[in-house]
Amino acid sequence: MIIAVAATQNKHKLAEMNEILEQYGIRLISVQEAGIGDIEIVEDGDTFEKNSMKKAATIMNISGKPAIADDSGLSVDALQGGPGVYSARYAGENATDKENNKKLLKELEGINNRQAKFVSVISLAFPDGKKISARGECHGKITYEERGSNGFGYDPLFIPEGYDKTFGELDAEIKNKISHRANALKKLQEELEQLITNN
Ligand code: IMP
Repeated sequence: MIIAVAATQNKHKLAEMNEILEQYGIRLISVQEAGIGDIEIVEDGDTFEKNSMKKAATIMNISGKPAIADDSGLSVDALQGGPGVYSARYAGENATDKENNKKLLKELEGINNRQAKFVSVISLAFPDGKKISARGECHGKITYEERGSNGFGYDPLFIPEGYDKTFGELDAEIKNKISHRANALKKLQEELEQLITNN
């Protein structure tokens, strides 16, 4: 069993990662459980990869323990990939999920192309300097109004491919099987196995 510190304050992300990683023998603890006070990591990278690794490496350096981080967001075709790395602060620096969703619907008013994907890049940084990272995507489309209250963020606006309900309406169990985060964690597991067999 590997114990890793989750470099996130987002309880939803922590719960989703914990649920998925359990089956791979990794248990996550929060930064509070690791005895680290409030620290703010500036997400100034222009890619999910850079921000994800920055968060994992920072928390690993402070805690001295393996650390895992997710950097994720929504990429909408009609918005040339936006809001992308700016997903959390789309409607402003401290925007709520509701405000972000409202802005997205407004930006897409009158636009028929609703194709979009969620992206998650998950990084794991170890105290011996080893690092691994994996990207997962989940393709789907954006609705015309919010539907459902499960999950978080843009979930009420996103219908994954092969379904006719939003992530806000689907059970967490389904989301955790097909989501961008689940796909990134599957790939991370492969990287982890390679890292272990090469050592
Ligand atoms: P960050 O990775 O903390 O920079 O922020 C990711 C942002 O992307 C979140 O605040 C959400 O707005 C959005 N996001 C990422 N993953 C999901 C998801 O699984 N469902 C809905 N929104 C998500």
